[in-house]
Amino acid sequence: MAEENERISYEPWVSWHKITGEIISGPAPFQLHQSKNTDQGSLTSKSVPKVYRHSRPKMHKMLSDQLERIGIIVEHGKQVLEYYEDAHSGKAGVILQNGLKLEADLVIAADGVGGKSSRITLGHEVRAEPIGYSIYRASYPLNETLCDSIINEKLPVMENGMPSSQIWLGRSADEITWYLTYPDEGQSKESWTHWVEPETVLKTTAKITGWPVYANRLIQATPKGRIHDFKLMWREPQPCWTSAGGRVVQIGDAAHTFHPSSGQGATQGMEDAASIAACLHMAGKENIPWATRVHNKLRFERVSCLQLLGVVNQELRQRSVNAQPSQTKPVGLLGAWIWEHDPEQYAIENYEKAMKNLTDGCPFQNNNTPRGYNYRPWSLDELLKDKEMGNEIVLEGDWE
Ligand SMILES: Cc1cc2nc3c(=O)[nH]c(=O)nc-3n(C[C@H](O)[C@H](O)[C@H](O)COP(=O)(O)OP(=O)(O)OC[C@H]3O[C@@H](n4cnc5c(N)ncnc54)[C@H](O)[C@@H]3O)c2cc1C
Repeated sequence: MAEENERISYEPWVSWHKITGEIISGPAPFQLHQSKNTDQGSLTSKSVPKVYRHSRPKMHKMLSDQLERIGIIVEHGKQVLEYYEDAHSGKAGVILQNGLKLEADLVIAADGVGGKSSRITLGHEVRAEPIGYSIYRASYPLNETLCDSIINEKLPVMENGMPSSQIWLGRSADEITWYLTYPDEGQSKESWTHWVEPETVLKTTAKITGWPVYANRLIQATPKGRIHDFKLMWREPQPCWTSAGGRVVQIGDAAHTFHPSSGQGATQGMEDAASIAACLHMAGKENIPWATRVHNKLRFERVSCLQLLGVVNQELRQRSVNAQPSQTKPVGLLGAWIWEHDPEQYAIENYEKAMKNLTDGCPFQNNNTPRGYNYRPWSLDELLKDKEMGNEIVLEGDWE
């Protein structure tokens, strides 16, 4: 799978643009920054890894091929209506739409936003609020646009052969991939199966002063049925991801959703997967409920910080439309605290300590969050109130 990952991922050179297409900076390699050892002021010894960017379908195929290789069968078309657990028998399960009951020692619910699992963890469904924006997204094979010389000129592959990625402030190409965030007028849906035609997008771009013609050509070149129109929603951070008996645990978007400007949703879903596997390994089959609770303890604060970062970056981008170029970049998008973290190792090293905290109240503090930031619970309601009052969100500590 690692070999396949090297083959299908790419490392774009990034350039920043104004909404009119005018270049602000770059193109330059997308670089990660190492953390500083504050005592000596030197860089840590960890080498800076490559940034892997993926096309979703290729990534999904890589993962599903690996499951097949190791003998895990994925069945499709099985709609879960309800989750349950039975403390006496030490079992949990799901009831499917066709009436079938599936039971196991543990159910890992990865049913995304709008799934049914929060009923057994939180006791209710998670409230979702529209943030007022939607995002058009499309991805299609490059050869379908090759015939357009203007697109080729404006969105070139770098002379050194590297792919390029343009981020347009106000908003934002081996396959061509483009995104455009725009004020939602009520027609979009929070769904990966809500499609629009290029003509719909052109009605939006017609409202943007100075929007260049070649960007419209890119949109027009998108094949029919390839543009998602995804409504962006807020959800409060959810501290509890496990059922009362600990035999159902939510991971991925079911446990925590992210604003797309975080660029973290899928990544954190994978970190969850590594963490829960390590916790289960540490706990053993006799202690599955503790494994899920410890996993929740080790993961929640980190994920909540990343959710907050997404909110802050969304605000910054929104403001950047009229700002000076130097003020326009998001903060801490790939801070060392994010990429240096190894969730599997972290779970192994901290399992016992977190467990003692849960069972005996012994002190335990996570250190997988930004250095110098003392975690404080936050809520969207509070942030929105602060915004109304014109207060800035202050991120204490080192988020870079
Ligand atoms: C516009 C946009 C841009 C994004 N960009 C990025 C990015 O750049 N980087 C990044 O890391 N993340 C990004 N994300 C986030 C990322 O897409 C999600 O975090 C990720 O897909 C979550 O994975 P998941 O497996 O938890 O949930 P999902 O991918 O939502 O999968 C949940 C699955 O459960 C199934 N399901 C739901 N209910 C039931 C049920 N009752 N019974 C059976 N099955 C059910 C669904 O059909 C679905 O297949 C972005 C998201 C959006 C919307």
